[in-house]
Amino acid sequence: MYSFSFSLEEFSRVFDALGERYALSGPRRFPGKGRFSGTDLVKYAPLASFDELELDEKSGMSPKSLVFPPDETTFYFNGDEFTEAPLEDERETVVFLRPCDINGFRRLDAIFLENGGTKDPYYMRRREKLHFFMIECATSFENCFCVSMGSNVAGEYAVALRFDQDSVLVQVKDERFAGLFATGAPSEFSPEFVRENARTVEVPDVDEMPPELFLHPLWEEYDARCIACGRCNTSCVTCTCFSTRDIFYADSRRSGERRRVWDGCHLDGFTDMAGGHSFRKKKGERMRFKTFHKIYDFKKRFGYNMCVGCGRCDDVCPEYISFAECINKVAAALKGGDAK
Ligand code: SF4
Ligand code: SF4
Repeated sequence: MYSFSFSLEEFSRVFDALGERYALSGPRRFPGKGRFSGTDLVKYAPLASFDELELDEKSGMSPKSLVFPPDETTFYFNGDEFTEAPLEDERETVVFLRPCDINGFRRLDAIFLENGGTKDPYYMRRREKLHFFMIECATSFENCFCVSMGSNVAGEYAVALRFDQDSVLVQVKDERFAGLFATGAPSEFSPEFVRENARTVEVPDVDEMPPELFLHPLWEEYDARCIACGRCNTSCVTCTCFSTRDIFYADSRRSGERRRVWDGCHLDGFTDMAGGHSFRKKKGERMRFKTFHKIYDFKKRFGYNMCVGCGRCDDVCPEYISFAECINKVAAALKGGDAK
């Protein structure tokens, strides 16, 4: 492991050199494209230069689209022939991200690569190309509760970075990147992690969550409040549900393409089945399903909670529904307290 220090100008040159070998992705600001008039959007996007990397604001969307795009053609078919869709970009990708999102990728790996004995090839071919450059969090953002979820610390990174006012400190873990940063001044830097969030969440243990919780009246609040927009699902780094669509070309029944498209447990139609059956029609039932998935059944299977406490679902909900508060309500209900 090596550590170096750079001025902003020096780091900008290293960034450019990195961009000659790798595709670069990170949080980027899009002025005027935000949810409200006159506000900006911050989301993961390709980076052409260091000054495009947004460091002052949390990205509203997570980096999961790098491995799980919102709308992906998986293969083309023509009669009995199938052809795998090529990747849009064959380069390896350096992604600048924060510790909670590195832990989010751990959860994505569990779902796509370790679940049910079959590795998802479409996920895997993208995931194998990623290198994590971790941005140190000096302080946490609004709505973050990563400490409560145990996701404030990450070790699976190739390079860690601290961006100060006049300098950039770098720790290189992956030897592949040592040469690129060798021009920096030697340093003792090692990343620190946020140890406290303004928001805290009490996560009940799975063994303390009885089946009766399913019928608790706390879920009813969401029937009226949630509008099923699905923003909490699409912004979440650990939501992985998708629908499969076959698109036929013109009026052909033999040639076309198969796509997988993001779907979400809050959205209308998600549980529709043949014969007109549909589960979880009420919004509160959908909130309950999501909550159990994030803090109960995933943990039962993999041993750790699915939610990483990034707080994006709370950031983006147009109805000001807080998932963090929902977890606290569950904890209060289990203690027999006021869950409302
Ligand atoms: S449920 Fe909310 S806080 Fe948890 S990982 Fe998803 S977006 Fe982040
Ligand atoms: S973002 Fe809010 S309103 Fe939209 S589906 Fe999620 S909980 Fe419901």
